[in-house]
Amino acid sequence: GDELAAAEAAPPAPDTPQAANLREWRRAFDRAVKVPEDLAVALARACSRAETAWERARPAHDWAAFLPPLAEVLSLRRQEAAAVGYAAEPYDALLDVYEPYAATADMAPLFAALRPALVSLLDRIRGASRRPDPTLLARRAAAADQEAFCRQVATAIGYDFAAGRLDRTAHPFATRIAPGDVRITTRFREDNLAEALFGVVHEAGHALYEQGLPAADYGLPTGEAASLGVHESQSRLWENVTARSRGFWRHFLPQAQAALPALADAGLDQFLFAVNEVRPGLIRTDADEVTYNLHVLLRFELELALVRGDLAPADLPDAWNRAMADTLGVTPPDFASGVMQDVHWSAGLFGYFPTYTLGNVIAAQLAAAMRRDLGDLEELYARGEFAPQLAWLRERIHAHGARYAPRELVRRATGSEPDPGFLIRYLEEKYGELYGF
Ligand code: ZN
Repeated sequence: GDELAAAEAAPPAPDTPQAANLREWRRAFDRAVKVPEDLAVALARACSRAETAWERARPAHDWAAFLPPLAEVLSLRRQEAAAVGYAAEPYDALLDVYEPYAATADMAPLFAALRPALVSLLDRIRGASRRPDPTLLARRAAAADQEAFCRQVATAIGYDFAAGRLDRTAHPFATRIAPGDVRITTRFREDNLAEALFGVVHEAGHALYEQGLPAADYGLPTGEAASLGVHESQSRLWENVTARSRGFWRHFLPQAQAALPALADAGLDQFLFAVNEVRPGLIRTDADEVTYNLHVLLRFELELALVRGDLAPADLPDAWNRAMADTLGVTPPDFASGVMQDVHWSAGLFGYFPTYTLGNVIAAQLAAAMRRDLGDLEELYARGEFAPQLAWLRERIHAHGARYAPRELVRRATGSEPDPGFLIRYLEEKYGELYGF
């Protein structure tokens, strides 16, 4: 605190990296000192207990065993919000941890715009006469063959294996050990050749961001990612806008067929439709591009009600099932595929979910800005040219670290603040063409 005050007494010039670092250190320091030590200790213990309880209770569908530790975590995080303080409502104080400078009042309009647009698009998809053939993706493909192809794709989009690794894990993730060492993980299922492939592209998208952060600023805010929402925009851009596009598969399908004999007779239209199948389901992590944000919306509304005190934890399963029926038209048969499916709440991560949708919104907006600057992205992909896209992202997003608040970063990169209209237009156009309406 004394060091910060001394630095602020002789402030660096405004709008410099030094000023940004000071701003971010002040922000982190002020938040940390507002949380009393006994509350911080109680939260750490409660989250540890609740996550362990969740691991045991989920496979047993034992909501009753999970409820008390979950209720304790929620109660402590509400105390944390009160200690930290907030302008409009307690949820703001939690959201701010994952998405700096974002408020509930920024997120609610995104979801309010997305909800009717996605429900309407889903209705048209349900009514469409065209249907993809998902069995194509369930053909057997040896894990070793899948891995070889995944490495080929990750290399082609710019992931640097000389500064990273691909390893196997139960739950895929990307992590930076240090500058020059950014690793990705995946899991292979021999009866599903899409899961690992799109999982690797997703994690490589996160890793490209980390590999593009300024190494000289390592340890400083200007050497860190801007936010979880911006991070997810990078993974979803590469996974969905790029790797689920026609141009991408015009380039890669022949290579996929060489690596994975099961795809030998797959046609481009058939394969592209299969990897873009829309099917309302129970599980967020399995969701397609159209339904994914409805899963997030439901969680945002429920956790907002929990944090406000409008919904009691004991009433969560009923509220969850009602919301699933209302938004996606499906009803979970059990707790594991319903309210207990995600680890987040057990780990205390209230306020985290909206960053997923913000990431999707920003991804579509970045893609629109790249089309303006780089021309037809599909034609670049079809020629196997991914360097222009990566260079654009490096310059506009990666190189800045957390120098700018996320909204400002997006405004500088695209010309406007995060706007769900770009995502809605992208989905309407893409799925209208695929499903034929
Ligand atoms: Zn991600």
